[in-house]
Amino acid sequence: MDAVLKQALAALASSPVLWDCLLCDYTSFAIGGPATALIVVEELAELQRLLLFLGEHEIQWRIIGRGTNLLVSDAGFDGVILLLGKGFGAIVRGDAVRSEGVVIQAGAACSLARLGGWCVDQGISGLEFVAGIPGTIGGAVIMNAGAWGRELAEVIVSVTVVTSSGQVCTLSRSELQFGYRIWHDHEHAAEEWVLIGVELQGVVADQDQIRSLCQSYHQKRQIKQPKGVPNAGSFFKNPQGDAAGRLIEASGLKGLRVGGAMVSPVHANFLVNSGGATAANVLELMEKVRVKVQADSGIVLEPEVHFL
Ligand SMILES: Cc1cc2nc3c(=O)[nH]c(=O)nc-3n(C[C@H](O)[C@H](O)[C@H](O)COP(=O)(O)OP(=O)(O)OC[C@H]3O[C@@H](n4cnc5c(N)ncnc54)[C@H](O)[C@@H]3O)c2cc1C
Repeated sequence: MDAVLKQALAALASSPVLWDCLLCDYTSFAIGGPATALIVVEELAELQRLLLFLGEHEIQWRIIGRGTNLLVSDAGFDGVILLLGKGFGAIVRGDAVRSEGVVIQAGAACSLARLGGWCVDQGISGLEFVAGIPGTIGGAVIMNAGAWGRELAEVIVSVTVVTSSGQVCTLSRSELQFGYRIWHDHEHAAEEWVLIGVELQGVVADQDQIRSLCQSYHQKRQIKQPKGVPNAGSFFKNPQGDAAGRLIEASGLKGLRVGGAMVSPVHANFLVNSGGATAANVLELMEKVRVKVQADSGIVLEPEVHFL
């Protein structure tokens, strides 16, 4: 990007643009080279003018949440990374759809931890399954995040997106297509729009029961998942009727290493950065795992993690 474009871009942003920003600081894997620029966007009008500018000048962009499901290349990203700031993080209790139902309006930048805690405080049930999943609700909608047999698509009422031409559109659940850990509409539109908010359906319930269910999910995670090593959660999608972790473990791959990347000895579907791992290390490890699991079981594992 030349100096004139840089100056023009900086003039559109409400916060200082971070040039040559290392993305390893923005991913839970702690992996990733520099982006040309990273901008924290605080309000809708700012987002609209930035998207228009980037489109007009054919500058690549990508929006990320907390980077907890993302593997960023060692070369980084030749373009602008957008990150929604606190201005997109509000949670509001909306009007009931049914008598016992509650609609929750959440800004895309709201963390799942804050949203889950808010639901406990408000005595709203339905989102307990997100307890312990890191990241934003925006990222969780894109991933159709889920756990314990539940997934976000079950509780979505509508989503609001801003298109690359700056238009704001609200789409109801019936217009959206989700699959296992995928929002199909997003697959085709990753660089065409930004999710800014979501409406979720909850039900009024006993606060102590909601809290204790969340605590039990947290405890299960403590036991089952690796601690203190950077990772991006489950690396592969579970194949139908089976678990990626079980297949990887059955292939004897726990502890397998490529450079600093390792198949976690605690949970085989977690590829971890055990220190100094590069994206190339993770990709090589991923391929080794896929090849061995396919040879042993005939099943081709598909990554759940998104790539940048
Ligand atoms: C320890 C650990 C445990 C985890 N456990 C689970 C689990 O149990 N279940 C589960 O489903 N996931 C799990 N994950 C994965 C991850 O936390 C979730 O998928 C999370 O919802 C991703 O949110 P994020 O904000 O970090 O998204 P990111 O990783 O930043 O982004 C994910 C994708 O969404 C896109 N995106 C993000 N925000 C927006 C937006 N506002 N508009 C448009 N596109 C956007 C990004 O470009 C990217 O393609 C886990 C991860 C970790 C590290």
